[in-house]
Amino acid sequence: MQQLPPPKQYVAKLADTEPLNGKFIKFQFELVEPNLLEFIAGQYVSFLVSDKGERRSYSICSSPEVKHSFEITVDTTPEGLGVNFLKNLQFGQEVQVLGPMGVFIVQEEPREENLVFVATGSGVAPFHSMIPNLLREKEDKREITLYWGLRHEEDMIWQDEFQDLAQAFPNFHFHPVLSQALQEWPLCRGHVNDCLNIHTLPTGNTGYYLCGNAKMIQEIKELLINKGIAETAIHHEKFY
Ligand SMILES: Cc1cc2nc3c(=O)[nH]c(=O)nc-3n(C[C@H](O)[C@H](O)[C@H](O)COP(=O)(O)OP(=O)(O)OC[C@H]3O[C@@H](n4cnc5c(N)ncnc54)[C@H](O)[C@@H]3O)c2cc1C
Repeated sequence: MQQLPPPKQYVAKLADTEPLNGKFIKFQFELVEPNLLEFIAGQYVSFLVSDKGERRSYSICSSPEVKHSFEITVDTTPEGLGVNFLKNLQFGQEVQVLGPMGVFIVQEEPREENLVFVATGSGVAPFHSMIPNLLREKEDKREITLYWGLRHEEDMIWQDEFQDLAQAFPNFHFHPVLSQALQEWPLCRGHVNDCLNIHTLPTGNTGYYLCGNAKMIQEIKELLINKGIAETAIHHEKFY
């Protein structure tokens, strides 16, 4: 197992917010004390969101090369404690954050030959940190595929970014999947499972990384196991 940086208690302040569409907002936090966050792409931070000590976790969606600030992207539809806490923050307001947390990182030992990432909804957040890190910073030449399921085209974020990466790096393949696609949508439609079902998936020494809600993780895991993928090759991060 790779040596993981230990989590620390941080004070950070809200530096920027960017509504990406009607569903997702990106938040950027600048570190105050300590002012340096070392993390591995795929890890998350835990925010203190109430005076009663309640916490909510958010995957870091920015590059691990950026160490004095970090970004998270939040699906605002749950409208619960965590989402409202973040939405009500003022610029410059300080927050208490614990991080980096989690073991949802690309495995180093043993090294996998191909990587397949599968996300639904905001589950794409850790992959937005991991995939550019692999392709640009680590110059990773393995076949890397991202399946990302959403309902509507207007829910999509980072579509151009992932498509540009697929153009620039022939070893990266991007499959957005829409469950409520318009007639003219040319790519995969249905649930992400439907797309995985009709594609020939790499077996052998391939790492499968799943991120989304518990139901999605369960369903995709079953599908992969039925297709002959070893359970040990399947890694996951459950959002709720
Ligand atoms: C390791 C980890 C990383 C996470 N990273 C992210 C991230 O990068 N971006 C992100 O948006 N969320 C992420 N989450 C989910 C996040 O922690 C909260 O659960 C989410 O923001 C809802 O919190 P809330 O307090 O607003 O809603 P709650 O009050 O906790 O829940 C309100 C209702 O919404 C449902 N719900 C909870 N989460 C979701 C969801 N994501 N989509 C739809 N319905 C939901 C609940 O079942 C409940 O019915 C992550 C969770 C974990 C465990």
